[in-house]
Amino acid sequence: MAFINKDFRFQEKQDKHPRLRWLLFAAGCAVLGVVIANTNTESSRSDAEILVADELPAFTENKPSPETAARLSFQLTLPELQAQQKIIDDINHEPPKQWREFKVKSGDTLAALFKRAGIKPQQLDEMMKSGKAAKQLTRIYPKDILRILTDDDKNLLGLRYEIDHASYLMIERKNGVLEANTFKHEIETRTAHASGTIDSSLFLAGKEAGISQNLIMELAGIFGWDIDFVLDIRKGDSFTVVYEELYHNGEKIKDGNILTAEFVNQGNTYQAVRYTNPETNRSEYFTPDGKSMRKAFLRSPVNFTRISSGFTTRRYHPILHKFRSHKGTDYAAKRGTPIVASGDGKIVHRGRKGGYGRTIIIQHGTKYSTLYAHLNSYKRGLRVGSKVKQGQTIGFLGSSGLASGPHLHYEFRVNGVHRNPLTVKLPTSKPVPKRYRADFELMTTPLLAQLNLLTRTQVALNN
Ligand SMILES: [Zn+2]
Repeated sequence: MAFINKDFRFQEKQDKHPRLRWLLFAAGCAVLGVVIANTNTESSRSDAEILVADELPAFTENKPSPETAARLSFQLTLPELQAQQKIIDDINHEPPKQWREFKVKSGDTLAALFKRAGIKPQQLDEMMKSGKAAKQLTRIYPKDILRILTDDDKNLLGLRYEIDHASYLMIERKNGVLEANTFKHEIETRTAHASGTIDSSLFLAGKEAGISQNLIMELAGIFGWDIDFVLDIRKGDSFTVVYEELYHNGEKIKDGNILTAEFVNQGNTYQAVRYTNPETNRSEYFTPDGKSMRKAFLRSPVNFTRISSGFTTRRYHPILHKFRSHKGTDYAAKRGTPIVASGDGKIVHRGRKGGYGRTIIIQHGTKYSTLYAHLNSYKRGLRVGSKVKQGQTIGFLGSSGLASGPHLHYEFRVNGVHRNPLTVKLPTSKPVPKRYRADFELMTTPLLAQLNLLTRTQVALNN
C-alpha cells in the first residue's frame, strides 16, 4: 500500500457546497496558472555563489539523472497540497479533504494505481476522456508520483501529476465532470559561475568546481570544435563558466544555459559567449569578436562522453603520431565506443580496406574527406551513398585490420592530401550577421566583462 497519510479517511459528514468549493479551487488554480505564465523568468542574481559539490547530483549511475532529480525536486509536496486544500475547505467551513500520494512502481498501470486508490475502474475511462492534457498520464514512469483526491464513495475528485520541471497536470472534477489541464511552474533564473583547473580529468575538475556533469558536457560541446577533448587535454588546463541556474520556490531545479565561458588548453585561451539572434530567436555560441564557435568539422570523431572519465591519463600517447608513415590520429578507447561523423557528408566507402580493417570514408563537399578505420562494426542502416550529419554515430570502435588494440584511426584529407586532424585549420560556420553586430556588442559586452573579471581573479588566486 502506498498510502502516505494515515488520516486520509477523514470523514466528511456534510458536503453542502461541493460545487462552490471546486469552483474556488479551480479558479485558484487557474489564477495561479495565469500569474505563473506571465511571470518574467529573466530575473537574475549577479553575485550568485555556486553550490557546494555535496548538493549536486553525484557522478554515479545509480543516482537519478539530473532530469529525474529536477522532476522530483519540483513536486509540490503532499503537505503543501493538503495545506492548499485546507485553505479552500476552511473558506467553505468543510472538514479538510485529504490528498493521497501514489508512487508508480515498475510494471504499474494506471488501472493498477486506481485499484490501489480504491477508485471505480470506469472512472479511469472517464479521466482519460477528460481532455487532451490527460494523455500525459500515458507516459508515466516508475517512481513518478500521482496525487489523488477522492470523496467518501471513492469517486475521483482530483489528480495532480508533475510532467517535468516546467509544468504539471491537474485533473479536477468541476460540476461533476472531470477536466484536465496543464499548468506552468514559476521558474526563476539566476546567474552562477564556477572555475576549475584540470589535474587528472575534465570530469573530476568539473566535480571539484561544483558543477554538474551535464554542464561539463555542454562546456565540452561549446569548445569541441577547437579542442579535442579526447587527446588535447593536459594537466593545468583550466576553465571558467558563467551559467544559469533554474529555481522554483527558492530551490534549485537544474542548470540552465551556459552564458559565457573560457577554456585554456595548453596555453591557448578560447572564449565563447551565447547570443540569441533577435530574428530567428536561435541561440548560438560565438567568439568575443562574433565568429561562430561551430565549425564544419568536429576536432574529435570519438564520442568522448562514452570514454571513461580518466581519459587524460589513459589515452594513446601522442608521440606515436610522429611516425612518418602514420597519416592520421589514433584514439584508444573501449571497444564499442561510438564513432561519429566529424562533419556533414556522404559515405563513399564502407567495408574492409586492407590493414585498415572495417573502414568508413566520408566525403564532405568537394574539398574534404575523412576516414575512420579499425571499426568493430558499422552503424546499422548506413551504406555507400548514405548522407550523414555532424555528430551522427557511424560505427563502433574496434581493432579490425592491423591494430594492436582497440582504437580508432582517423584521417583528415584536404583535396586528397592527408592533414593532421589535430592541427588542420577547420572551415568555420557563419559569424554574427552584420546588421546584428551592434546588438551582439550590447548583449555580450557585460557577460564578457564578467568573464574576464572572473578569469583574472582566478589567475591571481593561482599565483
Ligand atoms: Zn593509426
